[in-house]
Amino acid sequence: MKDLFYKRSHAASLIDDKDINIAFSFCDKYKKFLDCAKTEREAATEIENQLKAKGFKSYKYGDNLVAGDKIFVNNRAKSIIAANIGTDPIDAGVNILVAHIDSPRIDLKQNPLYENSEIALFKTHYYGGIKKYQWATIALSLHGVVIKSDGSKIQINIGEDEHDPVFCISDLLPHLAQEQMKRDASEIIKGEELNVLVGSLPFKNTENAEKIKANILSILHDKFGIVEKDFLSAELELVPQNKAKDIGFDRSMIGAYGQDDRVCAYTVLQALLDTETPQKTTVAVFADKEEIGSMGNTGMQSAFLRYFIADIAETFGSSERIVLSNSNCLSADVNAAFDPTFPDVSEINNVSLLNYGVVITKYNGSKGKSGSSDANAEYISQINTMLDKNNIVWQTGELGRVDMGGGGTVAAYIANMGPQVVDIGVPVISMHSPFEITAKLDVYMAYKAFCAFCKNS
Ligand code: MN
Ligand code: MN
Repeated sequence: MKDLFYKRSHAASLIDDKDINIAFSFCDKYKKFLDCAKTEREAATEIENQLKAKGFKSYKYGDNLVAGDKIFVNNRAKSIIAANIGTDPIDAGVNILVAHIDSPRIDLKQNPLYENSEIALFKTHYYGGIKKYQWATIALSLHGVVIKSDGSKIQINIGEDEHDPVFCISDLLPHLAQEQMKRDASEIIKGEELNVLVGSLPFKNTENAEKIKANILSILHDKFGIVEKDFLSAELELVPQNKAKDIGFDRSMIGAYGQDDRVCAYTVLQALLDTETPQKTTVAVFADKEEIGSMGNTGMQSAFLRYFIADIAETFGSSERIVLSNSNCLSADVNAAFDPTFPDVSEINNVSLLNYGVVITKYNGSKGKSGSSDANAEYISQINTMLDKNNIVWQTGELGRVDMGGGGTVAAYIANMGPQVVDIGVPVISMHSPFEITAKLDVYMAYKAFCAFCKNS
């Protein structure tokens, strides 16, 4: 009678203490990755470094390829495709893993620097879906690049070193917030109130009316050789300064910025690095721009992946159409875990649970699955079987109750290219906040799932 029922279980009841220790050690390295890869550019750099260290070579169209070759392409320093060329004919399709390396954040506007009442501030425009009030009164670090008129690139990273200054968005004291507190929560801090404090001392030897702003420009010129006009050709991002931390007396969880979706980027990367020559070629994509709709030439709606597949298909005398039509894809992205403090947004039989393993999400979207690629049952069965065969703890998940809201992933854009695709990833609490929470056992199960997929096992 027992087997007639489907029952999910806590991962700790299904694996032994040795595996729990392995999972915890794995997550120590994951936390280091989070601390050094807080933006899409930094993640792309770190991923490229780890690929090169394991023998992956930069690939360009026309390079000869044979089974056993490990290659990558860096797309404009913001996204990466890597491949582990397998022994099977390419016509049989490839195994594609896609995770995204951009996260919600606070971008500087093009003309950011201004002075008001002898305080210097940056104007910003937030990136991705955030609760704006969560980003005030926390320490922020500044990351990104400034491209000067001569084309040279200045890398900026201020706030991560313990001796660095940080930056901050202010909020009203409660004593004077009675009007503010009546605002709708989405407007408690309005978009144009996400102004960042950057200085308050005057530049002494200037007739300029804006002495505080002049002082900041002088500091920036001394340190980086940039002038105000260079902000126009910059991409500067403010992200939470906090480091990844263990959460709980039992250290079972991780709190950190940017786990959506660097938790999948990291686990996909490690699975790729830990796989010898597979039968089917593995293609891992680390994508940009997912949080704003996968637009742009570094996002998954671009032709980047298709062109890459076309290039390697041609090398083996095949075509993009044949390879993509026969390919399988895991869209590696997070899902919203059940939060006991906010139970009403979830439906308990179908929400993902912390520590119940890697989550398969058949569909997302909103208002009647709209915008979802809704994975085929045949493909889900194939993936479930793979997970069971490899003793991987897994569960299914749905992004909230019906009509509660919703969201999307890159799955629909991959599906448009022809492969079988389903979302799979790690359950997250406080998603899109400055301090997102995952469970270590789920992170490790995601890694194991991606390993099984890479090894075609
Ligand atoms: Mn995501
Ligand atoms: Mn997201």
